[in-house]
Amino acid sequence: MNTQWEVVIGLEIHAQLATKTKIFSGAATAYGAEPNTQACVISLGMPGVLPVLNEDAVRKAVIFGMAIEAEIAPYSVFARKNYFYPDLPKGYQISQFELPIVGKGRLYIEIDGKPPIPIGITRAHLEEDAGKSLHENFHGSTGIDLNRAGTPLLEIVSEPDMRSAKEAVAYVRKIHELVHNLRICDGNMQEGSFRCDANVSIRPQGQAEFGTRAEIKNINSFNFIEKAINYEVERQIELIENGGKVVQETRLYDSDKDETRSMRSKEEANDYRYFPDPDLLPVFISDELKADIKRNMPELPDSKRKRYGEDYCLSLDQVEYFLSEPSFAEFFEDTHEEFKQRFDIEKAKKNFIRDDEKNLIANHIQNEVTQISAKLVANWVMGELLRRLNKEGLSVEQSKISPERLAGLGLEIAYGSISDKIGKQVFELLWNGSESADEIIETQGLRQITDTGAIEAIIDTILAANEKQAEQYRGGNEKMFGFFVGQVMKAMQGKGNPAEINKILKAKLA
Ligand code: ADP
Ligand code: MG
Repeated sequence: MNTQWEVVIGLEIHAQLATKTKIFSGAATAYGAEPNTQACVISLGMPGVLPVLNEDAVRKAVIFGMAIEAEIAPYSVFARKNYFYPDLPKGYQISQFELPIVGKGRLYIEIDGKPPIPIGITRAHLEEDAGKSLHENFHGSTGIDLNRAGTPLLEIVSEPDMRSAKEAVAYVRKIHELVHNLRICDGNMQEGSFRCDANVSIRPQGQAEFGTRAEIKNINSFNFIEKAINYEVERQIELIENGGKVVQETRLYDSDKDETRSMRSKEEANDYRYFPDPDLLPVFISDELKADIKRNMPELPDSKRKRYGEDYCLSLDQVEYFLSEPSFAEFFEDTHEEFKQRFDIEKAKKNFIRDDEKNLIANHIQNEVTQISAKLVANWVMGELLRRLNKEGLSVEQSKISPERLAGLGLEIAYGSISDKIGKQVFELLWNGSESADEIIETQGLRQITDTGAIEAIIDTILAANEKQAEQYRGGNEKMFGFFVGQVMKAMQGKGNPAEINKILKAKLA
C-alpha cells in the first residue's frame, strides 16, 4: 500500500523583547558586551535576592497580544520551571504556565498569491532567557556567560495548523515581521534575538488523530527552518514505512550535515515541577493600561504594506525594504511628514517648468502631492542616505542628516530650485555640515537657472562656437543633440534647468 502522508507542524518562537533592562532586574540587555559584565546578583541567582518585574516587558507582550487579536489575560502568573543547566544558576527558569499573559489569537499567512490561511496562536507568555555556555577557548572545560540570563523573552506558541515546511516558514516570517515592526523585538536572528522550535509529525492523509511529534530546537534562520522540517518529514516517513515508530523527543538540526539528530527524550510538563513563583505577584492588566497601549499601538505591517503600495505608489522593492527595516521606515515617514507640512503650493507652481507637473500642482490634488513627496523622499532615503550610511557603517539612527534637513533638500528639488544631480552635491554638504539645504544652495550659488533669457544667451554662444556640430545635427546626426546639452550644462556648471535647455536647443537647432 502506498500511504499518502500529511505533515503537521506547530511552532514555538522565542522573541527577545527589546527592553533596555532585564525582565526582573535593572541589568542591561545590550548584546555583545564582555562576558558577565551585565550579570547582576539577580542574573547570577544569588540566594536572598528578589526579582522585580519590568513594566516595559509587560507592555510589549500586551502590544503583541493586541496585534494578533488575542485575549489579554486580566490576571496572569509567573511560574518556576525547574531544570538543571549550568547556564541557569537558580536551577529554575521564571516562566508562565497555567495563566499566560496572552491567550488565543491568530494571524494569516499568504503563499504564492493564494487565499490567506489562518494560523492559530495558542498563547504567548513572558519568561526569562538563560545564559550561554562557551565551549571555545576553554581547554577541557566550559565557560559560562550570564549576560543573557534574565533577558525578557516572549514565547509564542502556535496551534499545529501548518501543513508544510513552506507554510511554517511563511508563518515564522510573518511573526518576525510583526514583532520587528511593532518594535518589540530587534529581530536579529544571528544574535539569537529571534529563534524557533519546530514540532513536526506526520499522519496518513484523512486520519483525524495527530501522529507523534519530534521537536527540533533553536533553529535560527528561515532557510534552516525549511530544511530542518523537510529532513525531519523524510526521516519520519522512512521510519514508519520501515515498520518503526516516531518517538517523542527533542532533536537538533545540524546545518553542516543538513540533518536532525536526537538530543534528549522529551520532558513532560510534570518533569519541570511547575509551581507559581512565590517571589512574584500576579500581573493585573487594567482596562486603563490596555486602553493606553491601544492608543499608542504601532501600525501593523499588513496595513503599512498596503499604505506604502497603494497610497504612496512606492515600488515593490521599496515597500519590502521599509517593512524589513522599520527604523528606516520611521526615518522615511518623518522626512515625508516634514516635507508635506512645509510644502508650499505657490512656490512649487512658480518653479515648475514641466506642464504635467504644473497641472498636477495647480489642481492641488493632495493625494498626488503625497505621492510626489513619498516617492521623492523614498528615493533619497533608499538611495544617497542608505549608500552613505553603509559606507560609513552607521545605522539610520546615527545619520548625520536629520529628517528635517533631508526634507529641506527634497523640497528644493521638488520646487525645481536644483536638479537631482546638484542635489547630490547638496547632500554631501548637508552630511558634512550643519546648514540647511536652502542655505547651502544660496551660499554656494547652486540654484538652478530657469531664466530662459540666460539659458538662451548661453546656447547662442555655444551654437556660434560649434557650427560644424550644428551642421552635423541638422544633417541627421541626432547624437549631436547630446553633445550640445552637455556643452550647455557644462557652461552653466550643471545649474541649467534640463527641460528648459532641451526646449530651447530643439527650437534653435530646428
Ligand atoms: P511542549 O510545551 O511540551 O513543547 P505543547 O503542547 O505546548 O508542548 O506544544 C508545543 C508545540 O507543539 C505547539 O506549537 C503545538 O502546536 C505543537 N504540537 C503539538 N502536537 C503536535 C503534533 N502532533 N504534531 C506537530 N506539532 C504538534
Ligand atoms: Mg516545547
